[in-house]
Amino acid sequence: MSDFSQSAKLASVRYDIRGPILQRAQQLEAEGHRILKLNIGNPAPFGFEAPDAILVDMIRHLPKAQGYSDSRGIFSARTAVVQYYQTRGIDNIHVDDVYLGNGVSELIQMSLQALLNDGDEVLIPTPDYPLWTACVSLSGGRPVHYLCSEEEDWQPDLEDLEAKITPRTRGLVIINPNNPTGAVYPQKTVEAMVELARKHNLVVFSDEIYEKILYEDAVHYNTALAAAEDVLCLTFSGLSKAYRVCGYRSGWMAISGPKSRAADYLEGINLLSNMRLCANVPGQHAIQTALGGYQSINDLILPGGRLREQRDLAYRLLNEIPGVSTRQAKGALYLFPRLDPEAYPIKDDEKFVLDLLQEQKILVSHGSGFNWVATDHFRLVTLPNVRDLEEAIGRIAEFLSHYKP
Ligand code: PLP
Repeated sequence: MSDFSQSAKLASVRYDIRGPILQRAQQLEAEGHRILKLNIGNPAPFGFEAPDAILVDMIRHLPKAQGYSDSRGIFSARTAVVQYYQTRGIDNIHVDDVYLGNGVSELIQMSLQALLNDGDEVLIPTPDYPLWTACVSLSGGRPVHYLCSEEEDWQPDLEDLEAKITPRTRGLVIINPNNPTGAVYPQKTVEAMVELARKHNLVVFSDEIYEKILYEDAVHYNTALAAAEDVLCLTFSGLSKAYRVCGYRSGWMAISGPKSRAADYLEGINLLSNMRLCANVPGQHAIQTALGGYQSINDLILPGGRLREQRDLAYRLLNEIPGVSTRQAKGALYLFPRLDPEAYPIKDDEKFVLDLLQEQKILVSHGSGFNWVATDHFRLVTLPNVRDLEEAIGRIAEFLSHYKP
């Protein structure tokens, strides 16, 4: 028993992507092992650089970025976000509806903490980006997971979603494009989800951080368009992924819909925003240039682009492993392969990932860490170059050829 125990509030909070497996990987590295890390969607260490214009602009603004900013964020960045959504046909987001945060992560936490009372339910996809589930739990809420169906290319199961709505449901989380599955939802699916929110008076939380990382004919449809004037919609996006600057911690939340009906909730968000003083100010300065400048992400996702080639290679090599199958990602930076339970009857997928790490020095993330309902999936990032991906997936194949769970 330690003298100082953690708060009971953390009892149901999990964030496995950076959990004990990563610690073990760091230990192995400290012992001199080379670990191929396919566990975190952080482009910079894989040789993806931010556009020069962003770096230059940030550096130019550093002298002006020494003080706190307005709690919501600097005006120029927030107007750039307003203008960005306006070009997408969303004209009901104004400058005071935009909050800048230390990444989307901080804003996710604030938006849930300001809304939820103990026992309030929030609908979250399974599998999910686990921060959503963790933040609902931390806010005293109850995460309720709606199924996404692998057979349907990981599209949300709308019947399951509706069946899980109760009088305690307050919010609906949509992650589109999705982490970890790479699914991108068509307009009619987004509209159907928003329709459920409309019918049951739910707040929609739309995590669109991968909106610009789309492959082939995938088209991203902004949830705020479907939400229109009558569904309260909080849209989250930022610079971490499409602009490859996770470390700048620069994201935003844009609120649309019936704001006058939500005045009390918005006051709560303002309070929490004021309490954290402001987001990292240099990172805020990067937003206007990022949104207004050359969109170099397109060069990476078009045929011949690095992200596209790596995704295609990972998809092909994984599907060649006996007993492994994966759906192709239509967006984002991940694949979420399935291990056939007949071939690999894995009961504890965290142990599976640990065994893979110990033996082959490959680090991936276990599916149950994404609140997936079974222990038969894992996630890998498609950021490593083709040589490293070939090596990593080759070693996964070698490991599976003799693995006895
Ligand atoms: N939302 C999703 C779906 C993510 O995958 C991530 C990071 O991986 C985040 C939010 C957090 O992003 P940020 O760096 O803006 O905090």
